[in-house]
Amino acid sequence: MDSHDTKGIINVKLIHAISKRSTEEIILMLLGGLSIPSILPFGIIRMMQRNWALAAVDMAIVAGMIAVLTFVWVTRRVRLGSIVITIFYSIGMLASISVKGSSIVYWVYPTMIAAFFMLKAREAFVINMASLFSLVVILIGKMPMVDLLSVVVTLVLINLFSYIFSHRTSLQHLELNHQAEIDFLTGVGNRRAFDHMLTDLYKPNNADVSACLFVLDLDYFKNVNDQFGHAAGDQVLIKFCDLIRSRIRVIDSLFRFGGEEFVIVAVGVNVDTVSHLAEELRMLVAKTEFIANYPVTVSIGVAQRNHAESGDAWFQRADAMLYEAKQSGRNTVRMAA
Ligand code: GH3
Ligand code: MG
Ligand code: MG
Repeated sequence: MDSHDTKGIINVKLIHAISKRSTEEIILMLLGGLSIPSILPFGIIRMMQRNWALAAVDMAIVAGMIAVLTFVWVTRRVRLGSIVITIFYSIGMLASISVKGSSIVYWVYPTMIAAFFMLKAREAFVINMASLFSLVVILIGKMPMVDLLSVVVTLVLINLFSYIFSHRTSLQHLELNHQAEIDFLTGVGNRRAFDHMLTDLYKPNNADVSACLFVLDLDYFKNVNDQFGHAAGDQVLIKFCDLIRSRIRVIDSLFRFGGEEFVIVAVGVNVDTVSHLAEELRMLVAKTEFIANYPVTVSIGVAQRNHAESGDAWFQRADAMLYEAKQSGRNTVRMAA
C-alpha cells in the first residue's frame, strides 16, 4: 500500500469519526481546539520573556484543554466536557488577569460569550456571574473605579443579551423539533414522531413497559379519492384522526404512518385488555358517516410488545395482522399475542 492509499484511508476514517459526532461535540471540539493556537503563542512568548508565572498559566490552560478534549473525544461525555471546559477557561482567564493585571480584561468578553455556545443559558449565566464576582475581587484597587464599573456593566449587559439570545434559540429549537414531528394535514404525530416514540420505548428504563401496537389502514381509500376527489379524501383523513383521538386514552398515541395508514401505541396494556378497544374503533369508524351515504371502513392489525424483539419486528408483526385483516375481507381486526 503506498502512502497515498494510507492517507486516503486515514482521511476516510477521520471523516467517518467526525460525521458520527453530534453538533454539540463538534462545537465543543472547535471552541476548545481553537483556544490552543490562540493561547500557546502567548505562552511561548512569555517563556522567551522569562515571565514564568504567566507562561505557567498559559501552558497549564493549553495542557488542561488538550486533556479535556481527549477525554471528550474518547468518552463522548459532551455535557460534562462542556461544563469542565467552561469552568476551566474561566479559572484560567481569572488566573491570567490576577498575574498580568487589568490590561488583558478584554479576553473576558469572548470567554463569557463562548460559555453560551457550550452550555444551557442558565448554566452559562451562573458560571459567568461567579467569574464576574471573582473578577471584581481581583481587580478592585488595581484599576480606576470608573473603569472597573464600566467593565462590570458591559459584562452584565453582554451576559443578559447572550442569555436572552441563547434562551430564545433553544425555545425555537424545541418548537422546530415539535413542528417537524406533526403531520400537517391531520395534526397527529408523523412517522418521525412514531420512530421517536419507539426509540424512547426501547430505552433501558422502559424495558418493562407493556404495550400494544395498532396498525390501521382505511379500506379502499383510493375509491374515495376517485369518486369524491382528493379534497374530500383529505377531510375523511382529518375526521378519522379526530374520531380515533377522541376514543383512545390520553396516554395512547396516534401517528400517521403514511398516506391512509395510521399507528396507535397503547401503553400499559396487553392484547386481552385492548381487544375490545380495537373492535370498538373499527365499529366507530364503520358507523360514522364521513361522506353522505358512503361507507368508510378500516382494517386493524394489533400486536402485543414482545420484550425480546426489536421495534421493527414488533411493527412487522402488527403489519402482518393488518395484512390478514385485509385478506379476510377488510373492516376487520386481527390480533397477535
Ligand atoms: P386497501 O383497502 O387495500 O388499503 O385499499 P386502498 O385503496 O386504501 O389502498 P391503496 O394503497 O391502493 O391506496 C391508498 C390511497 O390513499 C391512494 C392515495 O391516493 C390515498 N392517499 C394517500 N395519502 C392521501 C392523502 O394525504 N390525501 C388523500 N386524499 N388521499 C391520500
Ligand atoms: Mg388503504
Ligand atoms: Mg395503505
